[in-house]
Amino acid sequence: PLAIWWIRRDLRLHANAALNAALRDGFAPLPLFILDPHLLHNRFTAPQRGGFLSASLHDLAAALEARGAYLLVRRGDPLAVLRQVLAESGATRIYAEEDYTPYARRRDARVARDLPLVHVLGLTVHHPDSVRKPDGTPYTVFTPFSRAWKALPLPSADAGLSIPTPWPPVPRLPGDPLPEMPPPPAFPAGEAAAQARLQEFLAAAVYDYAVARNRLDLDGTSRLSPYLRFGLLSARQVVQAARNALTQAAHPAARRGVETFINELIWREFYHSILYHFPQVVKTAFRPAYRDLPWRTAPEDLRAWQEGRTGYPIVDACMRQLQHEGWMHNRGRMIVASFLVKDLLINWQEGERWFMQHLVDGDIAANNGGWQWAAGTGTDAAPYFRIFNPVLQSRQFDPEGHFIRRWVPELAALPTEYLHAPWQMPLEVQRRFGVRIGHDYPAPLVDHALARARALAVFRRVSG
Ligand code: FAD
Repeated sequence: PLAIWWIRRDLRLHANAALNAALRDGFAPLPLFILDPHLLHNRFTAPQRGGFLSASLHDLAAALEARGAYLLVRRGDPLAVLRQVLAESGATRIYAEEDYTPYARRRDARVARDLPLVHVLGLTVHHPDSVRKPDGTPYTVFTPFSRAWKALPLPSADAGLSIPTPWPPVPRLPGDPLPEMPPPPAFPAGEAAAQARLQEFLAAAVYDYAVARNRLDLDGTSRLSPYLRFGLLSARQVVQAARNALTQAAHPAARRGVETFINELIWREFYHSILYHFPQVVKTAFRPAYRDLPWRTAPEDLRAWQEGRTGYPIVDACMRQLQHEGWMHNRGRMIVASFLVKDLLINWQEGERWFMQHLVDGDIAANNGGWQWAAGTGTDAAPYFRIFNPVLQSRQFDPEGHFIRRWVPELAALPTEYLHAPWQMPLEVQRRFGVRIGHDYPAPLVDHALARARALAVFRRVSG
């Protein structure tokens, strides 16, 4: 018998729970990817993410061809496409990895009403329904969530079966062409690239991760986020590989590195769980008290933030990195988010959208969670009075200024002592280094001390 393997954000052959389930149930899997117009064009669409998806699909198609199969691509409304492909192929079941975004759930519910859709767990290690408080309600605070998460055994659902070569015979149906979009330069697409990145990270950097992960000037994090976003790696497999690395870690500091890395993977699970249980977060603040903050409407300031022209070098470096690479360091994301929301008093949803329109790893759950955390409107939020000081953050996490010099070349020649707050340079120093503030590099958009006081007043009013 034949089944459709409906590929969505699980662009891999290895450790693929949906593919494995179809094989285990005795089906020949017909791999199908649907180009859903709603997902290709919406307010969050990002060219770089589209390029990464497109290159990953080409890679997957090639891997299937090498096994005597192929990737069927169809453009259109998923329900209509699936109905059509079932009819044309004679398949009797559809296997898909469950996704938790509000759109995915509406789409799948519509499909499941009419067609034989089987959901398989794979996007997260544990299903959001299986990590709950003893009274059955969902967690809204990270630490107890992570404790409950760690207490569960690792599911083995996507392990096991090897990928069939040759592939069981499936009918060749006519398809639409794959999209051709330039891939982002910083992230080679494809399953092999993802595996290589994981192995490289676990061979060395993970052992320093607890310390190095906060430094903007070091390559101390895994950069696995785009691969996890599109399922070029299985989350379960990454956790399993990290646990194996734990057994290799002799030194307590090395153990702490691996444990901290696993903890970040649990943050990913946590935000998927929040989105699953509280889908309203995509529209509004998690905390009702923060739904009507008196945000500023300041399109010029917003544009300066987006384009990396705020006059705060650390903010500008991060925002320019985002535009170029489609990626930003986690410390940078926290700094620029705090700056937009607290220093500029601009609605966090503007930042959420800009990030989604540029991040290769842009993920509704993690991005929304990160923004609501930074804004202090979310579940496990930083208290509103904790406002990042961009200059102190810059000194601490880019001490020599290597990161700033790379992304803000007009400041590259400045001595480190002036790099983090260049407006403090005396005129004669500006002249000596050929950087006139307000001319060659912008004067700061706001005074941080004043902006901080303004934000505190606004947030204090709604917090009661
Ligand atoms: P590592 O430090 O190596 O972490 C390993 C993996 O753990 C990451 O690849 C990611 O899958 C997961 N992870 C790490 N930190 C977090 C976190 N705080 N929340 C959820 N998952 C996490 N992450 C996204 O994947 N997509 C987003 O759209 C996104 N938007 C963010 C927006 C803001 C405002 C903030 C503060 C954070 C956001 N993050 C997002 C989380 C985090 O910044 C990135 O996952 C991380 O920087 C990716 O780099 P890495 O793979 O080197 O991370």
